[in-house]
Amino acid sequence: MEERIARAVKQSGRSRSDVTLVAVSKKFSAAYIRAAYAAGIRDFGENYVQEFAEKQTALADLGEARFHLIGHLQSNKARLACSLFDVVQTADSIRLIERLQDAAAARGRLLDVLLEIKLSPEQAKAGAAPDDIPQLLGAAQKCTHLRLRGLMTMPPWSEDPEHSRPYFRKLAVLARQYQLRDLSMGMSGDLEVAIEEGATIIRIGTALFGPRPKPQTSTIPAA
Ligand SMILES: *Cc1c(COP(=O)(O)O)cnc(C)c1O
Repeated sequence: MEERIARAVKQSGRSRSDVTLVAVSKKFSAAYIRAAYAAGIRDFGENYVQEFAEKQTALADLGEARFHLIGHLQSNKARLACSLFDVVQTADSIRLIERLQDAAAARGRLLDVLLEIKLSPEQAKAGAAPDDIPQLLGAAQKCTHLRLRGLMTMPPWSEDPEHSRPYFRKLAVLARQYQLRDLSMGMSGDLEVAIEEGATIIRIGTALFGPRPKPQTSTIPAA
């Protein structure tokens, strides 16, 4: 993985420190996260609040780990999410932003937030429309306990990484327009294209951990 990232940043004339690797550990047990941490990974992405709540107690001693929520968050889980995650990458409504602010204020902490943007109707249901960004930014600016770091998107799935490029490019244009620093885009299949288009955060699951265990099988590692 490091080789792929190194090659991509070099080809884009960027530096390795411009890009944070978030290891997507959904469906993998705490043991996998622990092993990746031992190998030097510090940022982890999880999709489901409840799933991570169950793993988190086994990971409390990983002092330098940063956990990112990268799956859709319902407002009624904002409080729990705020107690588990360092970064919420999927803020997509004013209501959710306000709930996260309340939760972060109640805990007396600062929470990093990215706005999830939906750039086409083909994409998953979650995500705010680009036209909603000004209102969301306005709401976030009033939130003393949130730090709005940037934008996140997930293009429609495709085998061809070039199909992701227009989405990544559009997200980069929006981030520039609104002077937001972070661009969370790029997964196992298209991380090179994402880095070329300016990704500062890539979210990598399969290429690090292998294929995800199927839902009907146990999530406990075989060995
Ligand atoms: C699962 C997931 C990833 C990782 O996908 P891979 O193709 O396994 O690298 C990244 N981002 C989000 C939002 C995901 O749900």
